[in-house]
Amino acid sequence: MSEFDYDLFVIGGGSGGVRAARISATHGAKVAIAEEYRMGGTCVIRGCVPKKMLVYGSHFAEDLHEAERFGWDIEGAKFDWPRLRDIVQTDIDRLEGLYGNTLGNVGAEIIKQRAVITGPNEVKLADGKTVTAKYILVATGGWPASARCEGEEHALTSNEIFHLEEKPESIIIVGGGYIANEFAGIFHAFGSDVTVANRSEKILRPYDQEIVGKLQEMGEAKGIKYRLDAPLEKIVKNDDGTVTVHFKDGGEPQTADVIMVATGRVPKSGDMGLEEVGVELDKSGAIAVGDDNKSNIDSIYAVGDVTNRVQLTPVAIREGHAFADTVFGNNPRTISYDNIPSAVFSSPPIAAVGLTEDEAREKFGDDIKVYKSDFRPMKNVVSGREERGLYKMITQGPDETVIGLHMIGPESSEILQGAAVAVVGGMPKKVLDDVVAIHPSMAEELVLFK
Ligand code: NDP
Repeated sequence: MSEFDYDLFVIGGGSGGVRAARISATHGAKVAIAEEYRMGGTCVIRGCVPKKMLVYGSHFAEDLHEAERFGWDIEGAKFDWPRLRDIVQTDIDRLEGLYGNTLGNVGAEIIKQRAVITGPNEVKLADGKTVTAKYILVATGGWPASARCEGEEHALTSNEIFHLEEKPESIIIVGGGYIANEFAGIFHAFGSDVTVANRSEKILRPYDQEIVGKLQEMGEAKGIKYRLDAPLEKIVKNDDGTVTVHFKDGGEPQTADVIMVATGRVPKSGDMGLEEVGVELDKSGAIAVGDDNKSNIDSIYAVGDVTNRVQLTPVAIREGHAFADTVFGNNPRTISYDNIPSAVFSSPPIAAVGLTEDEAREKFGDDIKVYKSDFRPMKNVVSGREERGLYKMITQGPDETVIGLHMIGPESSEILQGAAVAVVGGMPKKVLDDVVAIHPSMAEELVLFK
């Protein structure tokens, strides 16, 4: 008999926690997982998944508009936000149920309550019950940063945006990162007047800035407004329900139906007993862990956004899996944070892996080559849409090892996933040159760089 109630107690039923719980249980551990809100976490409930469904919904705007050029008459097409919103939420309910089933099938116990750490091996539940576990895994994720200015309570975040009563006629999205650019594309397609306002002049800072420049150019051509170098000063709620946003850029205040703030996400580590039991947090409030996901306390581990390493679902899943294999699977392993492919589901989407041109120059000086293909996708030629795609490949050294791939254009997130193998595998460009093109496609640009 173990001296503990459980081998593993996971706090947080998001991507990282669920994977860790499931694999640990598969390895034979007695596992409980506590979730205070809904199983699935940010990604499933109010992040990647509902966002992608809205992105799909938004594509119809351009497709329907251009349908005529492909021989279709689409009369009377109109958009119904409440219908899409509710269908998305119904599907989220379904997915939440699947998460529960998956854990139930491997024998993990789901505790739908808030859990707070009260000792290195002890957790207190909201109903007052205390349980013990040999290991505790914190996977509580992150939370949208607030607007950090006067009137911040009038701003929505990605938590609330999926539940809007009505489609806003106008929206100001503060931030210039993933969420701001994705929702700019979504609401613009639904017919809202969209302004993206960022504190600095750069949007999507981690991405290749030539590619980002194309997104901004295409966004402006569509009618998305960018108000850059515009830190927030205050937000005022008006009697008619609109909000007026004052910026510190010397320009006029701006009024809209909705203000959404997307200025990063902070680790969700507060009020859960971490400091009281001596778990070390960094300046951002993230749990400080080593490559093995272990905190400074031997029995307490953490994975995912609460550790603020790379805030991406697939990374949290890998961390959770590596934790389970290491602690319960007799297979100690760590994960690599190099060359993580990523995508921004903007309109059009951006996808990238490896070093940007600037990063490559900084690291390797003149020992790099940059290949570019700036092309107009065939579908856009027929439809009359001016939008072009831009693909970039960065190679290094005499063998021309592929060290970066950067793309903007339709379906780029789908195309990059396979191409990322070239960067992760350290392939020379010649291998791509040897691949016969699939014609006509956009992806063929990747094997035709000259
Ligand atoms: P991002 O980290 O992508 O971008 C943050 C933006 O907010 C930047 O433009 C930054 O400006 C600005 N900002 C940062 N701090 C402040 C501040 N104190 N005041 C004003 N502006 C500020 O954040 P998001 O909220 O868009 O997304 C959070 C995270 O979620 C992402 O980092 C990503 O990891 C994840 N995510 C991933 C998605 C995907 O994979 N497709 C989709 C959505 C989210 P500046 O650059 O000028 O500092």
